[in-house]
Amino acid sequence: MNRPEYIQERDGALWLTEVESDHLKLNWRLKDVLHVERSPFQEIVIVDTETFGRALVLDGVVQTTAGDEFIYNEMISHIPLALHPNPKRVLVIGGGDGGVVRECLKYPSVERVDLVEIDERVTRACKMYLPELAGKLDDPRVRTRFEDGVQYVKGVRNQYDVIIVDSSDPIGPAAVLFEEPFYRLVKEALRPGGIMVCQSESPFFYLPVLQNTRRLLNELFPVTRTYWAPVPTYPGALWTFTLGCLFDPFEDSGWICRIREKSTRYVTAELAVGSFVLPAFVRGALGVA
Ligand code: SAM
Repeated sequence: MNRPEYIQERDGALWLTEVESDHLKLNWRLKDVLHVERSPFQEIVIVDTETFGRALVLDGVVQTTAGDEFIYNEMISHIPLALHPNPKRVLVIGGGDGGVVRECLKYPSVERVDLVEIDERVTRACKMYLPELAGKLDDPRVRTRFEDGVQYVKGVRNQYDVIIVDSSDPIGPAAVLFEEPFYRLVKEALRPGGIMVCQSESPFFYLPVLQNTRRLLNELFPVTRTYWAPVPTYPGALWTFTLGCLFDPFEDSGWICRIREKSTRYVTAELAVGSFVLPAFVRGALGVA
C-alpha cells in the first residue's frame, strides 16, 4: 500500500497532516493506515487515529471519525426531521459514509431514504472499515445511487419532504453543491412544506462560505435558519448547518417533542432549541437580528 505524502513517520510514530490553509495544519497521530485508493473523484484513505479511532479521509481532509461522527450526523439529520411534521421521503446528497442515513432511519414516519453519492468507492470503503456508520445502508427503506447530486436533482420535482446535503468541503466534486443552481433544483425537488439542510462550514475558517450559503437560501426560501454544533475534528470546532424551509416550522413548538432523543448520543430536545442560539459574531456576519 503506497502511503500518501501527507502521512509521514516522525519520532517513531505515524502522523497525518491535514492542510486547512496556508496558515493552519492539523497533525493526527495514527495507529495505522488501513486503506488507500484513488477513485476517479478523489483519494480515499481510512486511518486509525489515536484519539478518535477510525477516520475517513478524502484528498487529505478528515471527513468523519468513529469517535465524534455522532455529533455531526445527528445534528444534520434530527433537526430537519423533527421540524417536519411528517417526513416520509428523504433525500441525502453526499453522505456516502452512511452516518446520515443511519440517523434518518430512526424516524418511524420515514418510508424511504434515497442516498445520492458521487463516489461508489467511498461507500464501499466505509462498509468495510466503518460499519458503525455504513451498517444501515442495506436497510430495505434505503435506495443508493452513485451519481452527481446536481445531475440527480435535475430530474426530480416535488418528491421529497426533507433533503439533507451532507457534502465535503466546497472544492473538487463538491464545489457545485454550494452554488445557486443546485439549491434552486433542491427547492424544486421538495414537496410542498418541505425542508432542506446543508452543512455550511466553520465561521472561523470558511466564513464566506457560510455567508454565501445563507444569502443564497434567503433568496430562495421563505424561512431560513442557521444552527450549530461543536465538532471536535473539524477546524474551528464550531460547525454550522443552514436550513431552507418552504413553511415556518418554528411557529409550532411541537417540533421539539419529535426529536428522537432516546436514540441519540448528542441531540436532546433542549439542545436542539439551543443550537439555534448563534454567537453574536455569527449573527453579525449573517446580518440576522
Ligand atoms: N460529514 C462530512 C463533512 O462535513 O466533511 C462530509 C461527509 S463525506 C462522506 C461527503 C461525501 O460527499 C463524499 O463521500 C463525497 O464523495 C460526496 N460528494 C462530493 N461531491 C458530490 C457530488 N457532487 N454529488 C454527490 N456526492 C458528492
